[in-house]
Amino acid sequence: MIFNHELPRKVYDSDEHRMLRTTIGDYFKNHVNPYREQWEKQGYCDKEAWLKAGELGLIGLTLDPQYGGAGLDFSYSALLIEEQARYGASAPSFSMHSDIIIPYIENHGSDYLKEKYLPRCLSGEWVGSLAMTEPGTGSDVQAIRTFAEDRGDHYVLNGNKTFITIGYTSDFTIVACKTDRTLGARGVSLLIVDADSKGFSKGQPFQKLGLKASDTCELFFEDVIVPKENLLGSEGRGFYQMMTELPRERLTIAVSAIGSVRGALEKTVEYVQERKAFDQPLCSFQNTQFKLAEVASELEVTCAYVDRCVELLSDHNLTAEQASIAKYYASEVQCRTIDECLQLFGGYGYIWEYPIARFYGDARVQRIYGGTNEIMKLMIARSIFSEYFKQLKSSKQIAAHHT
Ligand SMILES: Cc1cc2nc3c(=O)[nH]c(=O)nc-3n(C[C@H](O)[C@H](O)[C@H](O)COP(=O)(O)OP(=O)(O)OC[C@H]3O[C@@H](n4cnc5c(N)ncnc54)[C@H](O)[C@@H]3O)c2cc1C
Repeated sequence: MIFNHELPRKVYDSDEHRMLRTTIGDYFKNHVNPYREQWEKQGYCDKEAWLKAGELGLIGLTLDPQYGGAGLDFSYSALLIEEQARYGASAPSFSMHSDIIIPYIENHGSDYLKEKYLPRCLSGEWVGSLAMTEPGTGSDVQAIRTFAEDRGDHYVLNGNKTFITIGYTSDFTIVACKTDRTLGARGVSLLIVDADSKGFSKGQPFQKLGLKASDTCELFFEDVIVPKENLLGSEGRGFYQMMTELPRERLTIAVSAIGSVRGALEKTVEYVQERKAFDQPLCSFQNTQFKLAEVASELEVTCAYVDRCVELLSDHNLTAEQASIAKYYASEVQCRTIDECLQLFGGYGYIWEYPIARFYGDARVQRIYGGTNEIMKLMIARSIFSEYFKQLKSSKQIAAHHT
């Protein structure tokens, strides 16, 4: 559905984007929608969906052709994420596998790791997850306790992770761990751990408020032997690597927020024209019109900022602060506007089989994962006051020098 108030979106305006949009539409209609209820019941999506996506070239759109990828810019990945959210499909989690896992290996992995993992990731044969959060720490990543002890040619890994997206179905996991307990951020490293490693076990998928077809679970590492070749980059660089990759992860959350609001608005516009109350279609009430005018306005203004961030990331110029604004603001808009849409469905809005209920359930976590919105605001504020605090620090140093 295209409304007259929408701005032309330069970011997705090529013939290649249009062709990709058609492939994405066919994929979700034929290979996702028919299985959605079954996946939601079991709590995870089947491998066939990944393999089909691989066959259609929908995985790792930005991966360098040297490793078999299409080498497209980030806007193609963003289009896939936005369309997926617009269809209200919580699985397969392309944003995790294609926009987090594959770039981690491509940008930080050795030739050995790239050759071993990237072709299988691209075909959908292997799917990866990223394990940072622990039961005792989420926002404060430096405080992780999972520890990899150096034993010469291998590490011995011990610890627990939780809330890991596609942790249950993934074939390998990138694990953030300490390789030096005496250091904070500089003691963090990333290891790739294969799912069949001895001592590595997984909890059952959590029963969640939303994203029900996408599994989230706990991971347990008990004396897991991890070969040294599975270290991503070098020891002690893990925190830096995560900070480098986080803007992309955060922008994917903003992009999916845009798709989700668009999908919810479309469903609501259809519904309020069909449903009657007091002998009139709901859309004839001024309240309905005003609410949807508000939703459309919030969506379009936010979309303009997010589109600009997509362009910046495609040119490798997006800053961490810009990504934080996009993630924070778009996810707040998503939760606020979808709540208003749901209200217009009355009681039906609360019933899971109505797509608006799914949009609502899936939205809530967007303010929590990828760094909570409070952490996003800390980062934005830090950039606003960076000069002030720099000057304060140097004047204190000068004062200390003179006393
Ligand atoms: C569905 C789902 C999928 C997820 N997928 C993954 C994944 O794939 N990989 C992964 O590693 N993690 C994943 N997570 C974890 C997610 O990133 C964390 O839940 C999130 O970072 C918050 O950490 P926490 O839950 O420990 O909350 P806490 O850090 O305990 O925070 C609790 C509250 O305190 C606030 N708070 C914390 N510190 C501050 C501060 N300094 N100032 C102000 N307020 C603060 C937070 O904003 C929050 O409101 C997922 C979570 C969910 C629910």
